Amino acid sequence: MEIRNNVDLGKYTTFHIGGNARNFYMPESTQELISCLRTLGNEKDFYILSGGSNLLINDKKIYDNVIYCKRLNDYIIDLGEGKYHVGAAVRIQKLINKLNRDGYGGIEYLYSLPALVGGIVVMNAGRGEGYAKSISDFIERVYIVRGGEELTVEKGDCGFGFRTSVFKGSKDIVVAVDLRMEVTDSKNAELDIRRRMAEVKLYQERNKANFGSVFSCCNPRIMNIMQKLSYGRKSGVHYSSKTPNWLVNEGKGTYKQAKHLIDDVAALHKIFKKECKVEVQIWD
Ligand SMILES: Cc1cc2nc3c(=O)[nH]c(=O)nc-3n(C[C@H](O)[C@H](O)[C@H](O)COP(=O)(O)OP(=O)(O)OC[C@H]3O[C@@H](n4cnc5c(N)ncnc54)[C@H](O)[C@@H]3O)c2cc1C
Repeated sequence: MEIRNNVDLGKYTTFHIGGNARNFYMPESTQELISCLRTLGNEKDFYILSGGSNLLINDKKIYDNVIYCKRLNDYIIDLGEGKYHVGAAVRIQKLINKLNRDGYGGIEYLYSLPALVGGIVVMNAGRGEGYAKSISDFIERVYIVRGGEELTVEKGDCGFGFRTSVFKGSKDIVVAVDLRMEVTDSKNAELDIRRRMAEVKLYQERNKANFGSVFSCCNPRIMNIMQKLSYGRKSGVHYSSKTPNWLVNEGKGTYKQAKHLIDDVAALHKIFKKECKVEVQIWD
């Protein structure tokens, strides 16, 4: 297993803001991960990083141990009849392409995510709430490492909800997942992907550093106000004009700016007695 030291975490997040990892572990298999955790000892604090596409990391902090899942089980095993055993490190585009080639699919809408399967399972990534579509529709069971032991968690025990699972915010590390996909015509799947990519190009500010939605639940009117108030910041962080529930980093943004803007929105929701839930995972 490769271990790097003094790694700039900003380079590993899509928001391009992050602190420093003193030890940056890159396990390539479940066994390597288990050995790594046993060396660390259970009492040691560690952070888990995959595609870094839903993370806001404090740029003033040094994190002792970061486990990077980019190489953790990079495999897709075809179990037949639409069933697949998929490692946590697999890029979602690679998985969708493979499924479609085999005549299966159902998750083409996830093609636009710069994410890995492990992060997608933990966040139960999907489409907006009204669509009621997420990766968990196709999950049978999840394989995790907890406290140095490998465990299997059946779907009913995964606590999947809108953008959430029992793994979120825990120290469980997702190492693989069993999926059962639906039969899909590969031409239709290709069209769905093209349509989705055209849609996100039109409606999302993808040319600037971002981490997707800030909130999994928020009030659109409050977001529009905050977007207008924060927009003047041309070199830092502000709410996106195209996607008011996104923060974008113009290049010189800081963790402090982003955190203030998130806290301001939460405070406004409280004042106006509206519901608001933070989606982005924050390493404070
Ligand atoms: C341009 C853009 C578009 C997006 N569009 C969508 C969308 O349409 N729908 C949607 O749901 N999300 C969207 N997102 C958000 C993001 O892609 C998802 O939340 C995704 O699931 C995060 O996966 P990741 O691999 O990047 O995880 P990371 O951001 O690295 O991690 C997310 C969280 O999961 C934990 N984690 C990561 N890997 C593991 C693991 N193997 N085991 C245990 N814990 C782990 C991390 O510690 C962190 O708390 C978008 C983001 C961007 C930048």
